[in-house]
Amino acid sequence: MDALSLPRASWMTEDLVLLEEQARRFIASEYVPHLEAWNEKGMYEREVWTKAGAAGLLCPAIPEEYGGVGGSFAHEAVIGRELSLAGFDSFGAPLHSGIVAPYILHYGTEEQKARWLPKLATGELVGAIAMSEPGTGSDLQGVRTTAKKSGNGYLLSGSKTFITNGQHANLVIVVAKTDPKKGAKGTSLMVVETDDADGFRRGRKLKKLGMDWADTSELFFEDVQLPAESLLGTEEGQGFAQLMNELPQERMIVAIHAMAMMERALALTIDYVKQRKAFGQAIIEFQNTQFELAECKTEATVAKVFLDHCIERHIAGQLDTTTASMAKYWMTDLQNKIVDRCLQLFGGYGYMEEYPISRMYRDARVQRIYAGTNEIMKLLIARSL
Ligand SMILES: Cc1cc2nc3c(=O)[nH]c(=O)nc-3n(C[C@H](O)[C@H](O)[C@H](O)COP(=O)(O)OP(=O)(O)OC[C@H]3O[C@@H](n4cnc5c(N)ncnc54)[C@H](O)[C@@H]3O)c2cc1C
Repeated sequence: MDALSLPRASWMTEDLVLLEEQARRFIASEYVPHLEAWNEKGMYEREVWTKAGAAGLLCPAIPEEYGGVGGSFAHEAVIGRELSLAGFDSFGAPLHSGIVAPYILHYGTEEQKARWLPKLATGELVGAIAMSEPGTGSDLQGVRTTAKKSGNGYLLSGSKTFITNGQHANLVIVVAKTDPKKGAKGTSLMVVETDDADGFRRGRKLKKLGMDWADTSELFFEDVQLPAESLLGTEEGQGFAQLMNELPQERMIVAIHAMAMMERALALTIDYVKQRKAFGQAIIEFQNTQFELAECKTEATVAKVFLDHCIERHIAGQLDTTTASMAKYWMTDLQNKIVDRCLQLFGGYGYMEEYPISRMYRDARVQRIYAGTNEIMKLLIARSL
């Protein structure tokens, strides 16, 4: 699927091209045949995770000593794009590999890394990050979940909502206040292994506008007793700084997803308008269709060039929050516009569930909301003015 006429990005090495081919083949043979069933059921099987782990598609940026393949964010970018191009927008692997695992790699103690990372790489553990609560999302300082000192460990209490991977996750990084009086400085990240955690409860898988089979859920922690080693790192009160450092990567993951969905929408639409006829000619013969798609292709091309620039800077450790926020906000806005224009060219079929473009239209909307709303992105960009 290559709807854009761009040369390969300079960060795409030969190894990454091989990874791209391997991921594409694996997804086509192991996952795509089940896509409709998962959409129908609104859920996918737990073994999807272990299969991805066995195929080397989880945690590729984690060093080999912790069970990964020792790659970089470029590996995450390639795999995330392939999942989206194949219609796997609801599978939370990019969050698991690109958001949860890096918190542990960057801030965990040696024991924490050795304990959790290898199991995240195989899919034995499925990761989630629980920031949002019923009362607060954008304003993370307003988090009310607490982790109070209790004996040698902590007592975790609170509820989280909208949590991606919420039904399958068994390693949840929970944003909690270890010192509620200190606001942001009293915030810590607590890592909860949920399999044997008394007092932990999963709520329902939430019904949503799109991303039908993503297991976005509520999670409840009622006086969950945690050992001292559940605190990520060794020092309390570091949670906010840790979040701020890692959020640019989360934004890049969303931008990569947006780009892949634009490419997919364009490819599907170009294919459709060449086949569908009206007034004795293919839809693509109408000048309006050509102009619409010419504009979409131009804007998607501009987006891809910017995205590649951001990925390259991120791999070099030079991507700043401002630029990552620009990528997240502008590319997800553009994704929504392009998918909408493409859907229009499908006519009534674009509104029918069996045409992927209709699902892409629904799935696109949340991209402007999660990982920090696009309004919050603009606030972050404005700080650089
Ligand atoms: C499908 C899905 C998956 C998600 N996955 C996760 C997950 O895995 N983990 C997790 O922790 N969270 C997750 N979220 C939550 C998501 O990150 C939040 O919904 C998002 O951050 C917005 O928070 P909120 O819903 O509380 O909205 P609010 O913060 O209440 O915002 C409401 C509106 O006010 C605007 N607003 C807020 N503050 C300002 C401001 N200062 N200036 C201007 N406008 C402002 C917002 O932009 C928005 O338009 C997910 C959400 C969805 C829908």
